[in-house]
Amino acid sequence: MIPQADPARRIARFRSEIDAAIDRVVSGPHYILGPAVEDFEASFAAYVGVEHCIGVASGTDALALALRSLGIGPGDEVITVALTFCGTAQAILHCGAEPRFVDVDPVTRCIDPRSIEAAITPKTAAIIPVHLFGQPADMPRLMEIADRHGLAVVEDCAQAHGASIDGRKVGSYGHASAFSFYPTKNLGCIGDGGAVVTNDSGLAARLSSLRHYGWEGEGRISRALGFNSRLDEIQAAILSVMLSHLDEGNAERRSLAREYHHALEGLGLELPMHDRGAVYHQYAIACEHRDHLCSRLRQVGIGTSVHYSPPLHLHPAFLDCANDVLPNSESLAMRLLSLPIQPELVSDKIPFISQSIANSLF
Ligand SMILES: *Cc1c(COP(=O)(O)O)cnc(C)c1O
Repeated sequence: MIPQADPARRIARFRSEIDAAIDRVVSGPHYILGPAVEDFEASFAAYVGVEHCIGVASGTDALALALRSLGIGPGDEVITVALTFCGTAQAILHCGAEPRFVDVDPVTRCIDPRSIEAAITPKTAAIIPVHLFGQPADMPRLMEIADRHGLAVVEDCAQAHGASIDGRKVGSYGHASAFSFYPTKNLGCIGDGGAVVTNDSGLAARLSSLRHYGWEGEGRISRALGFNSRLDEIQAAILSVMLSHLDEGNAERRSLAREYHHALEGLGLELPMHDRGAVYHQYAIACEHRDHLCSRLRQVGIGTSVHYSPPLHLHPAFLDCANDVLPNSESLAMRLLSLPIQPELVSDKIPFISQSIANSLF
């Protein structure tokens, strides 16, 4: 069986470096907010091309703490997409604000800039674009709209570590940007982890305080209602190892995506856009009879996944939000199927997978 994803296979590839990194932390003396976290934060900020990185406990926390540090809360609306992982919208509800879902562009599958302006109300405070499947959203256009309306932008980069637009990395456009290091992500650890990056030093200071009980400096005085949401030393040490292999892994994903594209074009499927800046966290094709294709592929030993169905505006947790009909999101949610693209799983298997897809179509 070729699994759709298997992070243990990637960890195995760098096992000796990872073991050495863990060993250094276990020897002590720092287990929480020590030198491994500081080193990783400095390297990751430099990698994205921003001033500050604040390690936190997960990608969902990174989004929620970024919104809070921007002052977003009850009475505010945050515009985002429904075709995404549920954490994107849960972070908005957790800080007391309300998600306002807009539609995606059918080609990029990311937020459609044209749909944003129609959704802006006097309560709108921020926009969260999601770089879905590692495909960059149209950030230059989005920042222009946000600036014109005085809105904050928090990029959800959980699927797009290293993705770029004309050479500039995603995560460097928004006022703050959130990353997840969940094991299956392009940059993953061996547990939960996340980070916020920003060029705003005031925001960075508020984030450092929020993740750590609302303390500031010495004295353990809580200046604001804080959280315990820290990236831990072991995960940070592992992430520094994995960061040194991120560009190589992304290049492998791009080359696999090119191979899929050449093998699958002409079969009547909707393929991911060709984009030199994309990092192909998923390679998701769209087709009618998606569930039929999924079960035929399972029969020949190929694992696939459905991301994301139903879209969030149809989940019970979000039914009270101001929801519109979202035709592109609803149509894609019924037709998208994510093929395996993790380099450790499919480096020599694209011809077999593509042929199996061709054999399974009506
Ligand atoms: C994974 C993911 C998150 C949440 O990250 P966690 O670390 O699992 O909390 C948020 N948004 C998107 C788009 C994701 O893919």
